[in-house]
Amino acid sequence: MAGQTDMELIKDGVRLDGRKPDELREVKITAGVLDNADGSCYLEWGNNKIYAGVFGPMECHPRHKQKADRAIVQARYTMAPFSVNDRKRPGLDRRSSEISYIVSQAFEKVVMVEEFPKASIRVDMQVVEAHAGTRCAAMTAASVALADAGIPMRDMIPACASGKVNDVVVLDLNKEEDNYGQADLPLAIIPSTGEVVLLQLDGHLTPDQFEEAMDLATSGCMDLYKIMRDALDKSYGGKK
Ligand code: ADP
Repeated sequence: MAGQTDMELIKDGVRLDGRKPDELREVKITAGVLDNADGSCYLEWGNNKIYAGVFGPMECHPRHKQKADRAIVQARYTMAPFSVNDRKRPGLDRRSSEISYIVSQAFEKVVMVEEFPKASIRVDMQVVEAHAGTRCAAMTAASVALADAGIPMRDMIPACASGKVNDVVVLDLNKEEDNYGQADLPLAIIPSTGEVVLLQLDGHLTPDQFEEAMDLATSGCMDLYKIMRDALDKSYGGKK
């Protein structure tokens, strides 16, 4: 988010990739793609490509992390070295640790952790190609993988960003918009209650623009929620 405003990212209401301000990139979700995980998902969102795999509930290790009255969710977000233009150094960095932490916190709000004392539910998200919006995309994939694993949840969590480019509030920033836009606001909600479980803001928005960006990201989450449920219906309709 460079905050650079002289690059023309939207002209006559049309963005560089041809989308209108309130349009999502194309999203394709497939549940149950990995044989070796208890639950899994593959998601393509624009040019983002992400796998999510879930294991558990299982005994929590290391033991000092166990909670006597509930399970913990141990989410781990990683980017493959080949997921970005310049080869990314493998392994966890500060950004991956931050995303892993906020995703774990969000899922502890919906997973029925009280049913599994001392357990751990492991959620691994692997970004194979990254083109902006990967924390939301990874979280969305993780929700579907948790559902595919049969982990009891109050709801799934769709996540979607809105932002601002050339002073226009837009949905779901692409790579150029993320690089040269003025604001990025990732949001994740629990659709059945409207509760916000993740909200971040990089850049500047006026109070009115913030309201507009929240409304846009919320409607993006609801559109995504339908795509997530359709993917699960398709998976269970076909093989379970
Ligand atoms: P998000 O992917 O959730 O939008 P950021 O705003 O931190 O998260 O990153 C925006 C984009 O910048 C990523 O989707 C990715 O395309 C790129 N990016 C992130 N980290 C790196 C990195 N270490 N090297 C190269 N590009 C990166």
